[in-house]
Amino acid sequence: MAFKLPEGFLSYFKEWEDKVGAFIEFADLRSDAVCLSGQTAPLPAGAAALKGLPFAVKDNIAVEGMSLSCGSKLLQHLKAPYTATAVKKLLAAGAVPVGKTNLDEFGMGSSTDNSAIKQTNNPWDISRVSGGSSGGSAAAVAAGLAPFALGSDTGGSVRQPAAFCGVVGLKPTYGAVSRYGLVAYASSLEGIGVLADSVGRCRSVFSVIRGGDPLDQTSHDAPAAAPALYGANAGKGTIGVLSPEAVAKAISAEIAGKDLANAREGGDAGEVSLALASSLGVAAQAAELEAEVRKGFESAKDGLTELGYTLKEIEIPSLKYGVPAYYTIATAEASANLARFDSIRYGARPDWAENPDDLIDKAREAGFGDEVKLRILLGTFVLRSGFQDRYYLRAQRIRAGIRRNFEALLGSSDYGISGGGAAGEFDAILLPVFPTRAFGRGASSLSPFAQKAADLYTCCANLAGLPALSFPASVEGGLPVGVQLIGRAFAEGTLLDIAETWEQAHPIPHPAGYKAYWS
Ligand code: GLN
Repeated sequence: MAFKLPEGFLSYFKEWEDKVGAFIEFADLRSDAVCLSGQTAPLPAGAAALKGLPFAVKDNIAVEGMSLSCGSKLLQHLKAPYTATAVKKLLAAGAVPVGKTNLDEFGMGSSTDNSAIKQTNNPWDISRVSGGSSGGSAAAVAAGLAPFALGSDTGGSVRQPAAFCGVVGLKPTYGAVSRYGLVAYASSLEGIGVLADSVGRCRSVFSVIRGGDPLDQTSHDAPAAAPALYGANAGKGTIGVLSPEAVAKAISAEIAGKDLANAREGGDAGEVSLALASSLGVAAQAAELEAEVRKGFESAKDGLTELGYTLKEIEIPSLKYGVPAYYTIATAEASANLARFDSIRYGARPDWAENPDDLIDKAREAGFGDEVKLRILLGTFVLRSGFQDRYYLRAQRIRAGIRRNFEALLGSSDYGISGGGAAGEFDAILLPVFPTRAFGRGASSLSPFAQKAADLYTCCANLAGLPALSFPASVEGGLPVGVQLIGRAFAEGTLLDIAETWEQAHPIPHPAGYKAYWS
């Protein structure tokens, strides 16, 4: 069956896409190129709501016959030879993948400006970034070019662009959605997530794409004791509120400690700790919220209280080490995962090479962007023999500590399979998504280092493997502000219920010129 777009949509699409640049590829929907697949297996609850809907797919998730550039020059002309499990499940529900969206190269970044293919602008203000790395997916949904999109989230790449563009963004529990067909960046941290124009749509999509998959050995069904996906927590419950001030204070205290060490040690070690102190200074600054983001966060706290939730301040002491641990583990895994791109079987090649080694060197030198090269170098650095204790293993211990801190508040992730398993005091934790709203380019941009430091509120859910949901709290100064809920493993339903209760009282905002084509 050929797929039909609503009347007038193509000109609407073109007008927005020319300004925003969300897509790397868009299927010609007037032809029969996109077909609805036949239905076989019984469908999950949300499937009926998706029948006939178009959706966008981040260009690091495979859809057979469509682009799989990963935002990289190296893979710019690659067509995927197979389809990701998550996409297959959506096809089975009758939804149609209509385009591939822009991203930071291999998912590395927070602005989508690390794409080697094109620039994506924020639909709320085209002089600003759409966030990243799933910036194309977020921009497409925010502009109404697709009702939902798939993204990937390794350290915040679904939630942060969702917050920047004023849409809903879900990073599921690690393993809840198959990663088969997602081009790996940091395998132990990442997963496929959902960007959607409403909480209900997000839930429908998640209900379809979740579940264990024999093609991904880290994927699994939700345990029987996990909260239901529908109606797990509507209108009541206890939410722990992470105080951004407490996090900033903890990082500042860490710096004071380093200064002391600096004074004691002197010499070379002193210089090293001085460099560390200055980077921790950027990190402490990054933890502090921009005034408008603080306002949005406060309105979320007040609004949730009014809606009947009990809010209590909490602290997560290990959070101050989240960013260093995240970047140690992510770069280590990236350096291993990206080793496969040698341009031997596919990928852009140099015109001339002396021998296969030379071909690989030249292809990687010309094909990878600076950020990707930086991360490969960092990754090989932290994995050097004799240094693993100092960086990689230490980061893994921090990761375990962060997971324990979260489990103490929310309940254990294994639901008693290995003993224990009691629920925690909190149904969810409320925290900011990102310390700033969508930032600009040039002088008004954030430095690459400050962007990394600002991942502190998102990367902890990836380190702990927990589900996290970002939803619009308010619009401040013409730009959306998102807030984030983190939940117990496999408690996506709880987070969606809270956000849906919120959404009923505070409808999702839209940029000027937005038109709703999808009911
Ligand atoms: N900003 C983070 C990074 O650059 C997140 C990326 C992601 O989630 N893919 O690694």
